[in-house]
Amino acid sequence: MLRINRNFQKLPGSYLFAETARRTKVYQREHPDLEVIRLGIGDVTQPLVPAVIEAMHKAVDEMGHAETFRGYGPDFGYDFLVDAIRQGDYASRGIDIAYDEVFVSDGAKCDVGNIQELFSDDALIAVTDPVYPVYVDSNAMAGRAGDWTGERWNRLLYLPCTAENGFVPPLPDREVDVIYLCYPNNPTGTVLTKDQLKPFVDWAREHGAIIVYDAAYRAYITTPGVPLSIYEVEGAREVAIECNSFSKTAGFTGTRCAYTVIPHEVTGLGADGERVSLNALWKRRMATKFNGVSYPVQRGAAAIYTPEGQRQIRETIDLYLGNAKVIREGLTARGFEVYGGVDAPYIWLRTPAGIDSWTFFDKLLAECQVVGTPGAGFGPSGEGYFRLTAFNSPEKTRQAIERLDRLSL
Ligand code: PLP
Repeated sequence: MLRINRNFQKLPGSYLFAETARRTKVYQREHPDLEVIRLGIGDVTQPLVPAVIEAMHKAVDEMGHAETFRGYGPDFGYDFLVDAIRQGDYASRGIDIAYDEVFVSDGAKCDVGNIQELFSDDALIAVTDPVYPVYVDSNAMAGRAGDWTGERWNRLLYLPCTAENGFVPPLPDREVDVIYLCYPNNPTGTVLTKDQLKPFVDWAREHGAIIVYDAAYRAYITTPGVPLSIYEVEGAREVAIECNSFSKTAGFTGTRCAYTVIPHEVTGLGADGERVSLNALWKRRMATKFNGVSYPVQRGAAAIYTPEGQRQIRETIDLYLGNAKVIREGLTARGFEVYGGVDAPYIWLRTPAGIDSWTFFDKLLAECQVVGTPGAGFGPSGEGYFRLTAFNSPEKTRQAIERLDRLSL
C-alpha cells in the first residue's frame, strides 16, 4: 500500500483565502440584499491591454496555418520573450543577464513553490513574517518546516516585520541556507531600499546561503531609488534567484506567464563538497517537468515591452496605485495607522486596539460589507494587522472607504 507524503498531514487546515471566502459566503447568504465589496484577494480586475490582445490574436492566427504553426516551444522560453525581458527589465537598468539565465514559466507561484526542489531535504529556511504563504507551505510539504505548533512551524526561522522595526526584517541570528524575500512585499506593501537589502546579500555571501527574491510587484515601485531587482545590489549575482511575474505587471493572473532568473554564479554544495550551479540544476528540472508556456501567451507577454505596451500597462498600474492612495488616505483620515500602498497594491493597517485581525475581518464585513484579509493569516507577526488590496475599480474602492464611517470602534 502506498504510504503518502506525511508532511501533507502536518499542514494546518483551511487555507487563509478559503476561510475568508467561506465567511463571506455565509454572510452573503444571510444578507442577500447587501452588496459586498471585495478588497481581499490579490487578483487583478482590469482587462489585458490592447497591445497584448493584438499580439495574442496574431499568434493564434499563426497557429492556424501550417507554415506558421508552432508545436512544443523551447524549454526555457522563446527568444523573442527572453530577449525582451533581458533588455526591458535588466539591460535598461544597467544589469547584464545572460540569455540562459532566464527561465520563462507559467507563474511565479509555481516557481517560488518549485525552486525548493533544488535544496537538500534538511536545508534550513528563513522567511519574513508576515509572509506570502507559498514559501512556507512548499517547504512544509517537503518536510523542511518541521512541525506546526498551532501558530508557527518549529523548524523555520521567522524574521518578524512589524511597525516597530519599520517592516525591515532582521538578519538571521542563526545559520540558514535559504532566505525568502519579497519586495514590494505581499502582504505589507512595504519596500526595502538598496541599503536595506545589501546586508542580506552580504550575509548570504558570508554564510554560503542563497536568497529567493520574489519581485512579482516590481512594476508598482514609484519611489525613486527603490531597487526593482535584487541584482541592483552589488554581489547579488552570487547568491540571489529572482522570480518575476506578468500577473500583476500586466494583468496575466488568468493568462499565466512569469520568469525566474538564476545567474550562473549561484551555487550550492554537491555530494563531495563541490560547488554546483543552481542554474544547471534548474535547467535540468525544467526540461524534465515543464513543457513551456504557450506561444500566444509568450507573444502577449513580449508585447508589454513595446513602447505602446509599456504605456498601456502603466495606465492600468497607475489606476491601481490611485486606488491604493484612496485607501491609504481614507484610512489615515479615519485615524488608522497605515503602511504600504505607495510602491505596492497592498495596504497594511493596524487593527484598532483590542481587536484581533479575524475579529476585525468579521466586523468590517458585518458593519461595512467590505472584505479584506486578516494579517494573522500571513504569519504570527501579522496578528494585529489587516490587508486591503487596490485591485478593484476606483468607484468600488471609494465606496468601500466611505463605508468605513459605519465602523463602530
Ligand atoms: N508572488 C507573490 C508575492 C504573490 O503575491 C503572487 C500572487 O498573489 C504570486 C507570486 C503569484 O504570481 P503568479 O500569478 O505569477 O503565479
